[in-house]
Amino acid sequence: MYRVFKFGGASIKDASSIVNVCEIINSYKRENLVIVFSAIGKVTNQLEKIVNAYFYKEDNPIILLDDLKNFHFKIVDELFKKKDLIYEDINNLVVEIEQIIEEKKVTKDYSYIYDQIVSIGEFLSTKILSAYLNQCNYENTLIDIRDLIRTDNTHRNAKVDWHTTTSLINDNIVSKCYVTQGFIGCTSENFTTTLGREGSDFTAAILAFALQAKDVVIWKDVPGMMNADPNFFNDSKLIDELSFDEAIELAYYGAKVIHPKTIQPLKKKGIILQIKSFKEPLKKGTVISNNVKVLSKQSFYINKQNQILISISDSLLSFIVEEHISKIFNILEKHSVAVNMMQNSAISFSICVDNDRHTIPHLLKDLQSSFKIYYNKDVSLFTIRNYNKESIKNIIQKKKLLLEQRSRNTIQLVLKD
Ligand code: ASP
Ligand code: MG
Repeated sequence: MYRVFKFGGASIKDASSIVNVCEIINSYKRENLVIVFSAIGKVTNQLEKIVNAYFYKEDNPIILLDDLKNFHFKIVDELFKKKDLIYEDINNLVVEIEQIIEEKKVTKDYSYIYDQIVSIGEFLSTKILSAYLNQCNYENTLIDIRDLIRTDNTHRNAKVDWHTTTSLINDNIVSKCYVTQGFIGCTSENFTTTLGREGSDFTAAILAFALQAKDVVIWKDVPGMMNADPNFFNDSKLIDELSFDEAIELAYYGAKVIHPKTIQPLKKKGIILQIKSFKEPLKKGTVISNNVKVLSKQSFYINKQNQILISISDSLLSFIVEEHISKIFNILEKHSVAVNMMQNSAISFSICVDNDRHTIPHLLKDLQSSFKIYYNKDVSLFTIRNYNKESIKNIIQKKKLLLEQRSRNTIQLVLKD
């Protein structure tokens, strides 16, 4: 039986972190492993900058690309005894980006270009990790995830063809240990796609699902799943165990520890998901499974920043009826915008969505052609599961409350600083 490990960017952010990760992996030498890596550190963000520099012509993409190349070379310098081959591999990957951005006239669509460029982050990281693991006598096969995960052509948010993917994975994963890329898929016409930001967790789940793996371990820089993001809340607590259903709810509302699509395939096959710290690999972390029967009473705080709150009303200010709502959702679907919260009143319909700089201007324009629109940028969406008076007060503090919505155990608050 295979185990699937996933290491995110923070776990491999520099040479010494990579050494640490390889020590962890080496301690599982006896097991059959498929190891999924994200791009190194914040490389995905840097690649996004390169895409924007090229697409919107606002910065010099070549200079940014040069920085990115040097960043990887520096890590290679620190890790490898024989550097020539790996230098060449990195160079070749960087050239793939160069070939795209040297094209002066942008003819292709943004999301397509995005996928071709941003996916290189994972190809760079896995080249380095696989080679370094081999140097540390941890024999592994580097496998191109595009040979395993088949998707449609919804670039930046590709949908998995589970049937084909499951057979490709089982046909190709046959020996003891593999290293592969998270976040990436491939269409039947052989175009690279990505599965959405932070999608490497989902990659691990896809592999585990197809292989009927024993478990998935996601290695993080936090001790496990916390009841709040420790970067925003002082007294966040570690959750020892959680049911899949609770984890799905939390991921849905935006808990950053796991990608929302990750849990469903694991729940379906009863594959245990562990979230562990790469800083304290011997600690148990959080275990998410079907075996947890008691729902936790713990309050969970989830914070989504960079939101936009859009209020939509009929230009004649008539009542919002089904016809309007159906039209609004058609427009949202057209732009692949997911709604984080929505609320209906007699004459307006409000939605809170991620303020993606590429999609939102198009969305607003489309909405404006049929409706009257008001919006508020730079707002945050806070969700509290198992809330009480105290927890709500803690969150709101001096912020301005723009919208709120409550159910029995969940409250959502749209706040402006
Ligand atoms: N590297 C990608 C990202 O940062 C995928 C991932 O890390 O899961 O979004
Ligand atoms: Mg990442």
